[in-house]
Amino acid sequence: MDQMYEIIKKLPKADLHRHLDGSLRTQTIYEVARERNYPLPAGSVDELGRYVQVSEDCRSLADFLKAFNTFYPLLMNPDVMERAAYEVSEDAYNDNVKYCELRFAPVLQAKEGFSMEDILAGVLKGLKKAHEEFNIINPLILCCYRSESPESSLETVKLAIKYRDKGIVAVDLAGDEEHYPASAHKEAFNLARKNGIQITVHAGEAGSVNNIREAVEVLKTDRIGHGIHILDDNKLYQDFIQRQIPLEMCLTSNIQTTVVKSYEEHPFSKCFRDGLKVTINTDDPGVSNITLSHELYLLHKYYRFSLDEIKRVILNNVEASFTTKKRKALLKQEFEKEFESRK
Ligand SMILES: [Zn+2]
Repeated sequence: MDQMYEIIKKLPKADLHRHLDGSLRTQTIYEVARERNYPLPAGSVDELGRYVQVSEDCRSLADFLKAFNTFYPLLMNPDVMERAAYEVSEDAYNDNVKYCELRFAPVLQAKEGFSMEDILAGVLKGLKKAHEEFNIINPLILCCYRSESPESSLETVKLAIKYRDKGIVAVDLAGDEEHYPASAHKEAFNLARKNGIQITVHAGEAGSVNNIREAVEVLKTDRIGHGIHILDDNKLYQDFIQRQIPLEMCLTSNIQTTVVKSYEEHPFSKCFRDGLKVTINTDDPGVSNITLSHELYLLHKYYRFSLDEIKRVILNNVEASFTTKKRKALLKQEFEKEFESRK
């Protein structure tokens, strides 16, 4: 790491795509497992790191998913999710992330004696505590899951509507996009839209550009998670530029899960320079062992982005956020002021 990284770390930042379940501290996984007599493959925090995080040179989707499997059952508990929500916000704050949209899928965690609403209550409690303590703005996105039933997506959207005043700003569709079409969940997303809940959809990550088109045309999504295959359809690409539909891109995650071969081949810099509204996010900073500052630094390292260009990317994140127009304008003003003072 060089001086550029230190400068980026000090800049105010916004993350739009960060999964709560992929952001846990190894120390926390270790402690929670110990408290609950949950069997771990390692006897110390250091050793556990090898199982719940992937290394920088990880190029295997299987290894990436295996890391999640090691600790996932621990997350099916409101107390653990409360702690996770608090700590993930604190970690973001320590990286100077002033605005952080976190997301998780209640349907995946409400499987062992707790309802989706129980788990959600824990998460909201943790987020609120962190907001009060660190002054970080940390709204929540609820994920529906492609491989789960359309009814569970409806239930998720209804929870988002019920708790919208507690900081839920949007719903997402996550999961295996190669085998489960988004259209199956159309009813849930229609309901979200009718009620003013914003929408983002994981599409064009492992799956093709057709999934991006489906997310826009069928689910009427406001943003796309990843969307790295957007370049495969020039008409759609031009449409995204014209309509300024934001893409939530995540560099290291794409490399580690092997949906992109190398940083050099990642479409981010082309999209940015062509004027598409691209943003940089962490995805699963715990499992990937990264920070948002690190991901922004990669723009400099691999694409020779100048500091001014990196600042423009950060402002893209603010502009593409799911917060209110008023808060967005305030954040932008605050960020620009800080950028100015750091020249
Ligand atoms: Zn994601």
